[in-house]
Parts: sequence; C-alpha cells; structure tokens
Amino acid sequence: MPPQALPVWLLAALVAGAAAALAWRARSLTPPGAVAAWLVGTTLVGALGPAGLALLAAFFIPSNLLSRLLPPPGPPDAKGDRRDAAQVLANGGPAAAAALLELRTPGLGLWAAAAALAAASADTWATTVGVRSGRRPRHILDGTPVQPGTSGGVTWVGSAGGLLGALAVGATAAAVGAGWRAGLAATILGTAWMFGDSVLGAALQARFRCPACAEDTERPVHRCGTPAAHLGGWRWLTNDGVNLLATLGAAADGALAWWLCS
Ligand SMILES: [Zn+2]
Repeated sequence: MPPQALPVWLLAALVAGAAAALAWRARSLTPPGAVAAWLVGTTLVGALGPAGLALLAAFFIPSNLLSRLLPPPGPPDAKGDRRDAAQVLANGGPAAAAALLELRTPGLGLWAAAAALAAASADTWATTVGVRSGRRPRHILDGTPVQPGTSGGVTWVGSAGGLLGALAVGATAAAVGAGWRAGLAATILGTAWMFGDSVLGAALQARFRCPACAEDTERPVHRCGTPAAHLGGWRWLTNDGVNLLATLGAAADGALAWWLCS
C-alpha cells in the first residue's frame, strides 16, 4: 500500500463503520455481523475507492429495501432477519479479498469484486422475491416441487428478480468507471452463479429432518431446539458455505473475464 493511500483507508474505515453501525441500529445486522460488515466494507472502499462504495451501496440498499417493502410470509426462521457474521462473510468476503487485487493490478480487482457482489445481490434478490411471490419453487435438478425457502428450489419470478439484482450491481460498476464490459460481465456472472448456488445447494448442501416436528430443515438443530437427523448432502456444508462457494466462483470468473475481455 503506497503511503499516500493511508487517508483513503482511514476514510474507508470511517464510512464503512458508520454504515455498519446504521445497519446494526436498523436491526439488519447482529453485532458480530456488523463487525464483519465493517471489515468487508473497509477493504472494498479502501482498495477500490468511491467505486467500491458505489458497488456496496448497489448491493446493500436495494436488497434491504426489497425485503422491507415485500411482507415476509410465514414465521421467521431461527436466525431471524438480521444477518450474522457468517452470512456477511459468505456474501462479501470474496468480493473484499478480490478487491485487494486492485492494489497490484488496476482493473482486475474491480472486475472480480463486481462479479462477486453481483452474485451475492442476485442470490439475495432471488430469495427475497421468490419466497415472497407465493409461487411453489421447483428443485433445480429434478423439477419436483419443494417448500419455499428450500436450497436448490427455484421459481421463474425469483430468477427474474435475481437477474435484476445482478444488473443493479453490474450497471453501477459500469456507471462508476469500470466500463460496460465489466458491467456486462458482472451481470452475466452474477446471474450464472445464482443458478450455480442453487445447483450446489440442491446437490451438496446438508439436509436435515426434525423428528419432533416431522419438518425438513437446513440446520443440524431445528428452530424448535430439537437436534435434527441428517438426511443427505455434505453434513458440514451449510447454506452459508454454499453462498461462499458461489461468490468465490463469481470472483474467480470475474478475474478470468478481466483477463479475457479488458
Ligand atoms: Zn422441530
């Protein structure tokens, strides 16, 4: 890091800290989630400057507004609506790590971070729109109907929402100087990895069943507190783990797209 960049990083830490504190006050984040968001935000803004701030805003503001405008159906899950540190790092960790590439190779970090944030945005929009649309999702691999909110379940309206979520980040990347190629790459890769997330969720994510409620769940302990039986998938691979793989994949493909197209 060149010495003249120090004020940029201090400013980044202040801005990201203020945003994380506001999100915590608005009950969008748990306290550890706010700390994780502060670290991710500081890294993105410190490495990418105002473009990083714009990309973060394009991910965070519309997806939060969307979840507040559309009423949630049914009971909230055990984690509630507040994002914890694991969720924040799964969504934003690869983008922050990718942004650091910008310090060595201008352009590379911006392309990779934009693609990773576009994937996180697409997944968030798809889930928010899909779960609240009232449509019965279908399993992405075998087409059978599944419960709303199930990993690997997709709806047309949720997928269209996801495309808009990727576009929100991609268009912002283009608008803040990354160029239209970077914006298009982020939109395409974000949408593709939204489906990649569903495929990984359907094929590999751990599935459990609560013996007390006779209900399927994604967590080893059901929201009623009963330990659930392992049904299938990789026992250690949680929904956060699947999200992390998808944003990592998008960041790697964003870097590849930069190498191929810029
Ligand atoms: Zn239960």
